[in-house]
Amino acid sequence: MSKRRKAPPIPNDCPCGLPASYADCCGRLHRGEGQAATAEQLMRSRFSAFAVRDEAYLLRSWDPETRPADVVFDPELRWDRLEILGATGGGLFHVEGTVEFRAHYRAHGAAGALHENSRFRRDHGAWVYVDGVIED
Ligand SMILES: [Zn+2]
Repeated sequence: MSKRRKAPPIPNDCPCGLPASYADCCGRLHRGEGQAATAEQLMRSRFSAFAVRDEAYLLRSWDPETRPADVVFDPELRWDRLEILGATGGGLFHVEGTVEFRAHYRAHGAAGALHENSRFRRDHGAWVYVDGVIED
């Protein structure tokens, strides 16, 4: 089964929720034309990467220590909307940070949400995702 065959079309509005086009917002990071300045920006760009199924971006923004071999996308699952609930550290002058979020999705016709507190750190200057704790 091909992972890319049913990839959703490239959206106009950025999936991450910021009032910008995908091309100018997370798309810029996905294309490698810029780097996330903060842990929250990396979090948003990773949510968008899940939404557009950009496996390469997800892997290169993952801590090499915790990175999986690949990312398997559920073809029945659509990531709809991201809510940032809080953050610690993760700024321009930090080397680590956390971002708590709720990621809304639809799967098999039903709405759901993933509530996670993710950890991020800088790896050679660039923010990477380390791991996350699923909240209730
Ligand atoms: Zn975005």
